[in-house]
Amino acid sequence: MPTFLFDKIIFGPVKSRRLGVSLGINLLPTNVKVCSFDCIYCECGRNPEKYEVKAVLPSRMEIKLKLKEKLLEMQGENQLPDVITFAGNGEPTLHPDFAGIIDDTIELRNQLSPKARIAVLSNATMIHKMEVFQALLKIEDNIQKLDSAFEETIKLLDCPNKNFSLQKTVDQLTAFQGKVIIQTLFVRGSYKEQTVDNTSEKEISAWIKLLEKIKPSQVMIYTIARDTPIDTLEKVSAHDLNAVAIRVKNAGFVVQVSA
Ligand code: SF4
Repeated sequence: MPTFLFDKIIFGPVKSRRLGVSLGINLLPTNVKVCSFDCIYCECGRNPEKYEVKAVLPSRMEIKLKLKEKLLEMQGENQLPDVITFAGNGEPTLHPDFAGIIDDTIELRNQLSPKARIAVLSNATMIHKMEVFQALLKIEDNIQKLDSAFEETIKLLDCPNKNFSLQKTVDQLTAFQGKVIIQTLFVRGSYKEQTVDNTSEKEISAWIKLLEKIKPSQVMIYTIARDTPIDTLEKVSAHDLNAVAIRVKNAGFVVQVSA
């Protein structure tokens, strides 16, 4: 049940299950979550019903300065990260200067930590914006969420804002022409008296069909690892995740499992 917010713009480095030694960048406020989804499993908690505190986004300049400071510190300690990861208290691509921030990050990475990849963990709700789409094409790990091939499952699990369209999202993901990694969180349980389970045969076979359309360079599958805001959700076992992974592999994709 307890969830947490990142209290800094630059956080870590942390050892990420999926990415290696990861230096995090949180483009959202440090005191409140801001997201276009409201996933029932979100480690940052549910979205506030109304914003009691002002949601102030860090400025592009502040982010650049803080990232430079941290990379210089890590360089001095000879402990540069494997990856610089945009994650944090919500959806990073909602930041109005996202594209410029990606350019700054590429510049700093090239100067100070040239071996580090740049990753964005996103829910794909802003990729219809050309500048976001183009910025994501400049980085190494463009990681986009697709938790189900059924809109009703996504509505239950991810609680997207009202503009969400699965069809449009899939079309936009396909437009990356393979320069995209699909991330899918598998979970079982219940919510609002409905069964939650995106691991059923119907779910997996339809989801693999969408992967075949999108043609991602990699598929990351994982399950809940920490507390979730509602306590009626269960982790999917390593055995079951591996069974999904075998099917993804047999469909011709590179797959990474984090149990
Ligand atoms: S998309 Fe990510 S940050 Fe947004 S609610 Fe879902 S898990 Fe949380």
